[in-house]
Amino acid sequence: MSRARVLLLNAALGPLDYRVPREMAVEPGSIVLAPLGPRQIVGVVWEPEHMPSNAEVGDNRLRNLIGVYDLPPIAAPLRRLIEWTADYYLAPPAAVLRMALSSASALEGGRTVIEYRATGLVPDRLTPQRAQALERIGERQGLVRELAAIADVSDGVIRGLVKAGAIRAVEVAVDDPFPIPDPIHAPPALSPEQRDAAEIIAAAVHARAFDPMSLDGVTGSGKTEVYFEGITAALEAGRQALVLLPEIALTEPFLKRFEARFGHLPVAWHSDLRQSQRRRAWRAIGNGEAKVVVGARSALFLPYRNLGLIVVDEAHETSFKQEEGVMYHARDVAVMRASFENIPIVLASATQAIETRQMVEIGKYRELKLPGRYGAAQLPEISIIDLTQDPPPRQRWLAPTLVKALDETIGRGEQALLFLNRRGYAPLTLCRHCGHRFRCPNCTAWMVEHRLTARLACHHCGHIMPPPAACPECHAEDSLVACGPGVERIADEVAALLPEARAAIVTSDTIWSPAKAAEFVNRMEAGDIDVVIGTQLVTKGYHFPNLTLVGVVDADLGLQGGDLRAAERSFQQIAQVAGRAGRGTKPGRVLLQTREPGAPVIQALVSGDAEGFYAAETESRREAGAPPFGRYAAIIVSSEKLEEAVETARLIGRTAPEAEGMIVFGPAPAPLAMLRGRHRQRLLVHARRALDVQDVIRTWLGALEWPRGVRVAVDVDPYSFL
Ligand SMILES: [Zn+2]
Ligand SMILES: [Zn+2]
Repeated sequence: MSRARVLLLNAALGPLDYRVPREMAVEPGSIVLAPLGPRQIVGVVWEPEHMPSNAEVGDNRLRNLIGVYDLPPIAAPLRRLIEWTADYYLAPPAAVLRMALSSASALEGGRTVIEYRATGLVPDRLTPQRAQALERIGERQGLVRELAAIADVSDGVIRGLVKAGAIRAVEVAVDDPFPIPDPIHAPPALSPEQRDAAEIIAAAVHARAFDPMSLDGVTGSGKTEVYFEGITAALEAGRQALVLLPEIALTEPFLKRFEARFGHLPVAWHSDLRQSQRRRAWRAIGNGEAKVVVGARSALFLPYRNLGLIVVDEAHETSFKQEEGVMYHARDVAVMRASFENIPIVLASATQAIETRQMVEIGKYRELKLPGRYGAAQLPEISIIDLTQDPPPRQRWLAPTLVKALDETIGRGEQALLFLNRRGYAPLTLCRHCGHRFRCPNCTAWMVEHRLTARLACHHCGHIMPPPAACPECHAEDSLVACGPGVERIADEVAALLPEARAAIVTSDTIWSPAKAAEFVNRMEAGDIDVVIGTQLVTKGYHFPNLTLVGVVDADLGLQGGDLRAAERSFQQIAQVAGRAGRGTKPGRVLLQTREPGAPVIQALVSGDAEGFYAAETESRREAGAPPFGRYAAIIVSSEKLEEAVETARLIGRTAPEAEGMIVFGPAPAPLAMLRGRHRQRLLVHARRALDVQDVIRTWLGALEWPRGVRVAVDVDPYSFL
């Protein structure tokens, strides 16, 4: 090949052609370094027929490629996945490629890096910044830049600590091989139902063909043990396995179970990895040495050498949907990757998404069902506390019945979980004199009080401020009141009612790294915690046999602001959190606090009639032509200037094409009308399933122009309607 088409890591550019110098050998997938103006840029060689270019130049004007990296080429199935993802989600191919080449340092040579860690020595001059740095860094290790980010201080502060001897350099060998999980380390005793399902998955791995399966079983039915046998089959066949989890907080309990079964940890891939860990994992995944990878959605685009199985655990979770950048749904893209790789994929869940159930229904996915809980464990009994009949006292949120149950549970030496999907102390703060409400200056959102860290925070943009002593509007002092509860406020209530109980708050504020999650799991297992008060972070993945009571503080919360999936999501979330109770030999009990005991979601949970609930939900989606029976795409227009956003949104609305089976709603101000200082307008495209809505939108928007400061994002198959 003397000429090569290269997809460059620059989303603003299309693919460009280069000359391949005679002494250089490249093939499709080769990772290369190319000149771009005065700079050098990384790219991947692509088949021209798969990557059309509108910047064709003659042979005489081509520039030479600079070099080829000594790495395995990006394989054809991953190249096809990158093209498909870019096409389906209307994203620049380069933006998708960037997710595959997600460790810049992995491309370079060099086998050691210098990292830094605390020595335990306290410097003579301990400024507040230095104290903060040492406290936040704790046991962690990383580059100066990484430690500075963890500590929220400048690089200079870290360097000062190095000079003072409080932090020292350590040389890290970056490419040490990973230990190989041992399939016969501790094989589990499976129930007959588990064994049947496990054998089907193992056979599919050996068959090496695309084979999507829904592994459906109630919480505690032992789905993990079942798909572990699929991983065993992949290991025996010398192939790699990928397990996707919806959030990194879940990685920790998973790692423990994996290590107990296979004797070694799998290779973890998530945003909390240090640069050196990221590099080591990327290279080992690429050369096939990393046998089992567990990761967040970004692990999906890594260059596996020899993938044999994909598992998506908690497959119903909406956090698999990426909400910025390339707005893909990792569950759906995982199915496509399995299809291009020609391998089986297992979607595991106790509460499968309606989309997945429909694929089973029409025969596209196989269904593997685990009927009951594993061993002696029974499903917990779910009952209602009607807050209109059995209300808590004023300014309290736990009904007497729930408090009594808590007290009894703790008295028996068992553990309880209170679930409220609201971080912080209170969702809204206002002035009792003038009614002033604290709003984020950048977003259409209230500032949420966080008492543990003594600040008000916006959960959308991260803006924070100290709670002011006086009202900024009327200047009255000590006039601020907290409205409604968050988990911190429930923790206060528990402390006031049950002063002996040892409580722990579990949210993304307290469990922000795998290490923090490990600490929490250890404390739970040691019995050092009586009551967990947590957000959706504790609703899944955890397995605590001594946890016997789950109290849902506000079972109606998920139904507010109802988008099309509100009822389904609410059902899934409460069923998942209920599933934390009674996983051992002791029976579990679940109490739902509600003001709407008659709501279909609540009734389905109490009666255990999940099938009836799903059937009714599915039917109403079918009637509305909503997914999976029809399709949506959202067009989100944003600008720092309100007029520009409105004008552009109107232009898009005015020029909407006529297509059979397609309706365009809007534009209208988004519910989150302002986000991070940008005004937002939304349009919603509703189309029948068969319509190539991406193609329509591509042509439609491709013909329009808008001011430079305007951003137009298309969210195909949206999950958020904010
Ligand atoms: Zn005021
Ligand atoms: Zn904000």
